[in-house]
Amino acid sequence: MSDKHELITNFINGEWVKPKSGKTTPNINPATGQSIGDVVVSGREEAEAAVAAAKAAFPAWRRTPAPKRAEILARAAVIMTERKEELSRALTLEEGKTLGESRGEVQKAINNIEFQVGEGRRLNGETVPSELPSTFCYTQREALGVVALVTPWNFPVAIPVWKLAPALVCGNTVVMKPASITPWTAKIIAEIFAAAGLPKGVFNVVFGPGSSVGQTLVEHQDIRAISFTGSNEVGTKLYVDAAKTLKKVQCEMGGKNPLIVMEDADLELAATATVQGAFGSTGQRCTATSRAVVHASVHDEFVKKVVEKARALKVGDGIQEGISVGPSVDAGQFKTVQEYLEIGKKEATLALGGERVGTTGFFTAPTVFINVKSNHRIAQEEIFGPVLSVLKVNSFEEAMEVANDSRYGLSSSIFTNNMAYVFKYNEQIESGMTHVNSPTVGGEAQLPFGGTKATGVGAREMGRTAIEFYSEWKTVYVDYTGAKRTTSVY
Ligand code: NAP
Ligand code: MG
Repeated sequence: MSDKHELITNFINGEWVKPKSGKTTPNINPATGQSIGDVVVSGREEAEAAVAAAKAAFPAWRRTPAPKRAEILARAAVIMTERKEELSRALTLEEGKTLGESRGEVQKAINNIEFQVGEGRRLNGETVPSELPSTFCYTQREALGVVALVTPWNFPVAIPVWKLAPALVCGNTVVMKPASITPWTAKIIAEIFAAAGLPKGVFNVVFGPGSSVGQTLVEHQDIRAISFTGSNEVGTKLYVDAAKTLKKVQCEMGGKNPLIVMEDADLELAATATVQGAFGSTGQRCTATSRAVVHASVHDEFVKKVVEKARALKVGDGIQEGISVGPSVDAGQFKTVQEYLEIGKKEATLALGGERVGTTGFFTAPTVFINVKSNHRIAQEEIFGPVLSVLKVNSFEEAMEVANDSRYGLSSSIFTNNMAYVFKYNEQIESGMTHVNSPTVGGEAQLPFGGTKATGVGAREMGRTAIEFYSEWKTVYVDYTGAKRTTSVY
């Protein structure tokens, strides 16, 4: 497989098409700063063409029996498995995560398709007793219509796929606007689903800026629902704008995920999990461990272990073997991280890192700050880089207070063997996902994924809950003898 790609064009109505403007932009490998190929830059017109194609494809797709729709998804899972290595390499080359992390991400996408294949055979409603004689009542799930998917660059395979699979199995047609800086993986996903046998127009992909392509989808009258994953800044605006056309909206946004280490914790395990959670995927995970909340009695020993383990991580080009931490995704994200390093040096104490690595690419040394206070910016704001803030606490109660002192509520973790702590933590923690004695990261395809507070609105993703977002209920009353007409109460 080549490390460069051909010009990436839009996928509309089953055809690969260029926008009229002819504009293109390079796709940059963040490990080298070099272009790996070009992608078209589309606008309103192409977004509208994609919506029209999806609208035209909807009537036939919704009438296709759900198990038949699922068969196409099952073939997509097989093709993605066959193309796993190619897709993983493309992911590393355009996004920067290590090849091992990319393989894990592609596998997660495959798992999500496989789970949603099963949903095609259980898209059932309920039969419900009626108040009236001779009346049969039931509910059935209905497709929504055309749905839009607006996706981020940090998981450009898993996130699009975990939205796409349930959207399709429910009978919706789809227009996707992937993040502008990760187009290659989106192109391969479209190829895979087309090869699996999706009819023309059922899945369309348009490449172009959020401000034009994305905004057109958000405002479009013919789109019934929009599933967004990305920043709070964009998601909040999208939520407001989409309300004007009464769209169903799902937003998955930022995180500032705490990992609590209690006095009885297995410190070796806790330190390993913290290092994985904080520095894996270069800290560019919405579920990254960005705050370690540590009991004073074990603080120094825990910090020593974390620093030792983080120091041993090899930073470099993720396409090479033996690398554990890749670059920031682009110059903008890299600059943000460097700015937070300076903020952190003023607010707290640097225990490790705090600087750029090398002079090419966007690499930052794994960084640990100690003596961080909960009101510090590095304890409150999502940095999205390989930076960990350690906060010292004196009790379980204080740990919970600090952990919950965040506008976000995506994931969290506690390290302890005390069952009272475990249950109190699970009860009190304000996060959509909680972990006990395991890192804050990860999510299995059969379980709900998402956050509370400023992290998310709308139904959870993945698992059976995804179906709640991509379908709606129809309630049916069948009066099979005319009993209702002869009943005086009505
Ligand atoms: P972003 O800047 O908000 O972009 C996300 C998507 O929105 C991109 O496709 C972007 O297009 C598009 N967009 C931008 N402006 C738009 C507009 N006005 N209307 C419609 N769409 C628009 O986020 P990002 O930087 O790609 O991703 C990082 C963020 O995602 C982090 O905050 C992270 O925590 C969050 N995230 C959350 C989860 C979760 O499940 N909670 C998972 C992963 C990531 P362009 O690429 O063209 O700008
Ligand atoms: Mg962005």
